[in-house]
Amino acid sequence: MTLTTTQTFIDHQRIEALLRSPATTPDPGRVGELLDRAMDLKGLTTEEAAVLTRVTDPEAIGRMYEVARTIKDTIYGRRLVIFAPLYISNICQNECLYCGFRASNRDLDRRALDAPEITQQVQALIDQGHKRVLLVAGEGYPEDGFDYVLRAVRAVYAAGEGAANIRRVNVNVAPLTIEEFRRLAGEAIGTYQLFQETYHHPTYLEVHAGGRKRDYAWRLEAMDRAMEAGIDDVGIGVLFGLADWRFEILAMLEHAQHLETQFGVGPHTISVPRLEPAPGAPLATDPPQPVSDDEFKRIVAILRIAVPYTGIILSTRESIAMRRAAFDLGVSQISAGSRTEPGGYAAAHPGHERESCQFALGDHRSLDEVIGDCARLGYIPSFCTACYRLGRTGADFMDLAKPGAIKSHCDPNALATFMEYLLDYASEDTQRAGRQCIDRALADLPTAAASRARQMLAEVQAGRRDVFC
Ligand code: SAM
Ligand code: SF4
Repeated sequence: MTLTTTQTFIDHQRIEALLRSPATTPDPGRVGELLDRAMDLKGLTTEEAAVLTRVTDPEAIGRMYEVARTIKDTIYGRRLVIFAPLYISNICQNECLYCGFRASNRDLDRRALDAPEITQQVQALIDQGHKRVLLVAGEGYPEDGFDYVLRAVRAVYAAGEGAANIRRVNVNVAPLTIEEFRRLAGEAIGTYQLFQETYHHPTYLEVHAGGRKRDYAWRLEAMDRAMEAGIDDVGIGVLFGLADWRFEILAMLEHAQHLETQFGVGPHTISVPRLEPAPGAPLATDPPQPVSDDEFKRIVAILRIAVPYTGIILSTRESIAMRRAAFDLGVSQISAGSRTEPGGYAAAHPGHERESCQFALGDHRSLDEVIGDCARLGYIPSFCTACYRLGRTGADFMDLAKPGAIKSHCDPNALATFMEYLLDYASEDTQRAGRQCIDRALADLPTAAASRARQMLAEVQAGRRDVFC
């Protein structure tokens, strides 16, 4: 049965009406009043966000950026959480017209890494200094089916030695049944991530030409199943460039509100991938509704204002310049040193010289270069995994985050894990920039957090690892 657009909690007619309604016209008084109120960190309703998506006046956009910056600074300070994607398989049965992994792309070198290969890749990430991995796969596992994913998560956690290890595995794989989500939760994953790609149902059907992924509702309701199955932290997202970005933002906010109503907690993160050219996927080179750089910045700023406590994730799809701009406007987590082909981190494999990546990257720098750049810009790269390991997840995390209590943990944890990175993995240049960044950050912290941070930094410098509070 084909689902109609009114059968899900994404009410297309209502969203489209909101985008045209006189009630969301961005007159200067209304925009100013909304932005003033946003400083209370209570977020925005879908209607209020609709007003911001319609702002075109450069002065009002400037003010929107200022508010987004202030909110980011108040909640996240200068911290940027760092992770790397780990592509374990590019075998896929779906026909997403924008993706290099789509089933009918015959030019792709297909492979699913086995456990020793996963260990080898993870070791390469650990040797760079990574502590958080996002495990990614196409939809179509080798003969052991979904168990392949479970085994892969175990292989990632088992790799490395002592504190030189991966401490949090987030997972981005196709929607699962409740039972499968229960088994995934049993592997102690961090966040389960899944992007709706587009919330616009007619566009969804156009760009998902075949395979299980054509089922819009199965994907849309995946987070409900994940949360019912005991996964506390879920991450949603849109692949920008497929449909009107204004529609996507409002629909994504409706999704967040749906989760909040059903489970008492909204998404832990929102990802903002933008379409990049992909081998064997012409649609990706010629996006149906391209998003300009200016619009992309507005997307980040509006989300930061609308859902202040939800992390915003930016990948290496974006260029260095866009990444720098987006850190400032609200991004709180970034990938670095990424490869989007299975086996991309360790030495090249003979016989695998054909194209095997998912899409082209905009930022090709190594982890060390990204970290050095962040530090020079005054951002504190954080490898912290404390919340997840101490059970501060889901509603418990939000209960701490909303009154601002989490900051007294996040700042010292970020500094301690950054120092660990500097001592064990950084180049001389990055070390120098990093130490200066840490000194500046300590000077800006409130007294109690600064003294906790100093003590933790001293422990790391004395040789202790994995110090967190
Ligand atoms: N196969 C699973 C799925 O589709 O949900 C898991 C992850 S898929 C490998 C990761 C994400 O890559 C997709 O959700 C999509 O948003 C993104 N993606 C696919 N093609 C892309 C492209 N050409 N440019 C940027 N992002 C792309
Ligand atoms: Fe497969 Fe995911 Fe790519 Fe679609 S986006 S073709 S499901 S890997």
